[in-house]
Amino acid sequence: MAPLTFVEEKSSSSTLPLQDLNEEEEYQVVIVGCGPNGSVMANLLGMYGIKTLVVEASDTIYNLPRAAHLDDEAIRILQFIGLDELMKQNSLKLDVKFNRKSQSMTYLTIKNTETVYGHPRSIFWYQPELEQILVNGFQRFGEHMVKLLLGHRMVRMCYDQKTKTNRVEVVDNETGHVKNIRCNFVIGADGGNSTVRKSMSSNLHGESGSMRWLVIDATLDSDHPKINDYFQFVCDPKLPMVSCPLPGNHFRWEFAIADGQDEDEFIAGSDRLIELYGGDLSKLKNRVADRWFDGESRFIIGDAAHCLPQFLGMGVSSGMRDSINLAWKLKMALDNINEPYRINTAALLDSYALERKPEVELIGNKSNRIGNAVMSTNIIASTIRDLFSYILLLMPFIQTIFTNNEMKPIVPIKEGIIDHGHATDQYYDKKKSSPWKSFLGFLVIFYYALLQWSSSSSSSSSRKNTHKKNVGHRIVQPNIIMNNNNNNNNTMKLDSVMGLGFSCFVVNATDNTFSLLNTNSSIWKLLNTSFITIGQNNSSSSHWKQFPSIQIQRDQDKPFNAFIGNNMDGDSIIVIVRPDKHIFGIYKGDNEIATISNSLQNTFLIN
Ligand SMILES: Cc1cc2nc3c(=O)[nH]c(=O)nc-3n(C[C@H](O)[C@H](O)[C@H](O)COP(=O)(O)OP(=O)(O)OC[C@H]3O[C@@H](n4cnc5c(N)ncnc54)[C@H](O)[C@@H]3O)c2cc1C
Repeated sequence: MAPLTFVEEKSSSSTLPLQDLNEEEEYQVVIVGCGPNGSVMANLLGMYGIKTLVVEASDTIYNLPRAAHLDDEAIRILQFIGLDELMKQNSLKLDVKFNRKSQSMTYLTIKNTETVYGHPRSIFWYQPELEQILVNGFQRFGEHMVKLLLGHRMVRMCYDQKTKTNRVEVVDNETGHVKNIRCNFVIGADGGNSTVRKSMSSNLHGESGSMRWLVIDATLDSDHPKINDYFQFVCDPKLPMVSCPLPGNHFRWEFAIADGQDEDEFIAGSDRLIELYGGDLSKLKNRVADRWFDGESRFIIGDAAHCLPQFLGMGVSSGMRDSINLAWKLKMALDNINEPYRINTAALLDSYALERKPEVELIGNKSNRIGNAVMSTNIIASTIRDLFSYILLLMPFIQTIFTNNEMKPIVPIKEGIIDHGHATDQYYDKKKSSPWKSFLGFLVIFYYALLQWSSSSSSSSSRKNTHKKNVGHRIVQPNIIMNNNNNNNNTMKLDSVMGLGFSCFVVNATDNTFSLLNTNSSIWKLLNTSFITIGQNNSSSSHWKQFPSIQIQRDQDKPFNAFIGNNMDGDSIIVIVRPDKHIFGIYKGDNEIATISNSLQNTFLIN
């Protein structure tokens, strides 16, 4: 047999003959690394019935806290894998305060209300507990479906062009025994020093911020004097810092250390702490890998693909969004191996990086800019910042923008697996032309908030294709009531009627809508589509009675209708939603609905 080229862990290549093939195990996917992102991915693949092996170099789940925050969209991903309630029970829902001094002089409070995605704006958790909940989740699928190999390091892998499979070598830390694994896809969830990334000749680009941060995690004595029970940014130029309680009497501080200052002085005098995990001194990194997919069979997710500054706490949330973006595409690609449907697998898998990179790049840049503005150590800049923010925040509408919107950017998919039609691209156009852009750094925060506000108000007045303005966005998640359920008062979240595949919402249906959609066509089956009707069903056909029919809960129906462009003129509307909840397309009226079939075929099939 011809020798194959291996890529070793230390990123060198060697040519070795195949050996020990009789010991080979087969999986559809091997995930390297069982941190938060590898374990979310394993749960997603388990949900899809994909035979998965998770290889983790450590003997145990990592037991020190690092990440502490998840956003509403990440909690929604936990909802997809059925672990959101458990996570919420083990987390804190904290308000966020911007204080001039620690625990005093608050000038802005962001309440932790429920957002349009149907979950709290943020939850704060203790990372070892989160990881344990995620790993326990594997048991639901059984070892035959999702298997975890702790204490095993992936050392080498090679791709066999003939069989289009990878051969992965993993070594047992204790015995040195080598296992050979054969798989279709490898996912590198192996953190910032990712071996899988190096094997793809992918490089991280970006910079570390200039500020040094000391992160301290501690467990407080049970009789420790009360400290803040909210998340606080202390915007004091003499000692900018962040602090927040975490579940189980844990507490986190992050201090910006001035040049020449000694971090030990922060730890000294902490005699009321019974357990101090020590400090991690780091600069805020903002690095994104240039390749996330090798074009054949390897992907990277989470920190392996991007190291984001921790300022907005988006590391794990962004990694979870990578996972859900990729999981359903892998499912389609794997199904296509066994029963070739002419799926355009190359375009599908290429879209992963195309869709995810713009979001993490924007979050990384924005985290740094906001971090520099809010945590400035420059007395003059911070005084100007405080003066402006004081004046601006006197205006109620500015207050509302901040208390209702996060500083987190909302980044719709612009290019990838979506049908944009001829929607006007207001978000990006406005961003480019704004005169605010070159203004003082701290106004960036206000700029983004105003941008969101102005784009939503102008888009509602713009006439052309306004119903398409949210294509590429994640669909909002209102509460709903099932019409054809005997228990009419049973309120549930929208996602609970959406399956693991695509969803097709049919609003104001008529007989003609149904015949144009042709729900029996093979493309809908390929996308594993759930059809759901909303509002009045004007069809006489009994055929549609088989599909769930829902009502949006009364106080949430207006925002939902505005989101999908339903201006109550009675036109039929079709909203197609991808498994990761991004809107593939919105079609209004018979002319547009008639184009759906072609659009789906052109997107998913090889022509
Ligand atoms: C102090 C600090 C504070 C932070 N705060 C936040 C926050 O508030 N919010 C947030 O979202 N993020 C935060 N982050 C970032 C967050 O911790 C990371 O984004 C997150 O842990 C990345 O998860 P991951 O699964 O991608 O990688 P990791 O957690 O790094 O996991 C990678 C795993 O791969 C394993 N591995 C590596 N190589 C191999 C191999 N060859 N074979 C087998 N296994 C291998 C490792 O043992 C490890 O378990 C913080 C980070 C730090 C350091």
